[in-house]
Amino acid sequence: MNGSVPEAAAPMSVPEATAPLTVHRRLTQEEALRLGSDIQRRIGVKTSRQEPLARFTTMRVGGRADLFAEVHNLFELRALVRFARQRDVPLFILGRGSDLVISDGGVPGLVIHNRAQGARIDGERLIADSGLPMAKAATISKDAGLSGLEFGLAIPGTAGGAVWANAGAHEADVRSVLVSASVMRLDGSEVVLDPGGLALSYRHSILKDVEPGAPEVVTSATFRLEPADPGVIAERLDEIRRWRQAHQPLGMPSAGSVFRNPAQGPSAGELIDRLGLKGRRIGGASVSEKHANFIVNDQKGSASDVRRLTEEVQAIVRREHGMELQPEIVFAGDWSGWEPAA
Ligand SMILES: Cc1cc2nc3c(=O)[nH]c(=O)nc-3n(C[C@H](O)[C@H](O)[C@H](O)COP(=O)(O)OP(=O)(O)OC[C@H]3O[C@@H](n4cnc5c(N)ncnc54)[C@H](O)[C@@H]3O)c2cc1C
Repeated sequence: MNGSVPEAAAPMSVPEATAPLTVHRRLTQEEALRLGSDIQRRIGVKTSRQEPLARFTTMRVGGRADLFAEVHNLFELRALVRFARQRDVPLFILGRGSDLVISDGGVPGLVIHNRAQGARIDGERLIADSGLPMAKAATISKDAGLSGLEFGLAIPGTAGGAVWANAGAHEADVRSVLVSASVMRLDGSEVVLDPGGLALSYRHSILKDVEPGAPEVVTSATFRLEPADPGVIAERLDEIRRWRQAHQPLGMPSAGSVFRNPAQGPSAGELIDRLGLKGRRIGGASVSEKHANFIVNDQKGSASDVRRLTEEVQAIVRREHGMELQPEIVFAGDWSGWEPAA
């Protein structure tokens, strides 16, 4: 397969026939109860029903999961993904929830909160479980005297979420340091893909091109680093920390940049700022006064407020600049019935 990396840490290959997925299906209470006890009995992971999800996201909005499970290692992650697929249960992988606006209607099916945070240094490489926070990946690398993942400090998400988005900051992105990622495919097989195989480009990977409810799941990622003076790396981390504090509204719930930057010309933030939209508000959501490409939530906001405001900003930029800004944040969960404002 183009872009696959056969020699890397061989994951299990377990092709399985799966029934077609009915990805938007909600689970009934009885079904969720039955699936939850099956998961507990077979895999040993506790589940909860109707779990409120807002607290697992940095935007602090969103409804409930039909069924929710937290995994703490790759065995549990793989087993739960397979379990959901074998039973045609819609699946959603939740990392740190730092790119998400989860619908007020919640998320259908099983939500797996990925807290598989294992990591090891192998020579000049960091091999991370997909639930490892990128900030932790940055400090583990620094402690090993390895440079390259400093930008991870700016990304409040997991390694899996960062691969999914090809996250980046401070002139670096996942593509620039990723050797490969192990990915569980829809048929249950696991493949090792390099940046080409993942089609990493500006805030994009092929993992984004799947049906909601039927994700391909990153289980681990291997990063290529370079030896450097730990003092120099620590200084770079401090610089990044100071930059973020100066430029981003870190004290308030948000999901990072709302829009992708246009391919050329002013950034999305500049376009929005020039139109005087800082401070514009719908319900509890407002355009940040500190960074015009952030929408912040005053804690009382809803997912609908955030989406409505996103669409309003998009419409004003379209009207005034004739440009279509594309959201970078992800509207996840059950948005059926959502009507864009006329
Ligand atoms: C204050 C702030 C600053 C930010 N700054 C930046 C920045 O500088 N650069 C940048 O690129 N981003 C930035 N972000 C956005 C965000 O941190 C990144 O997009 C991050 O990569 C999301 O990771 P996550 O684990 O939180 O994913 P989540 O938000 O939990 O999920 C996002 C998507 O990824 C999918 N996903 C998560 N884990 C996996 C997995 N293991 N396998 C398959 N799919 C998966 C989810 O299903 C979902 O569709 C910022 C966010 C905030 C709140």
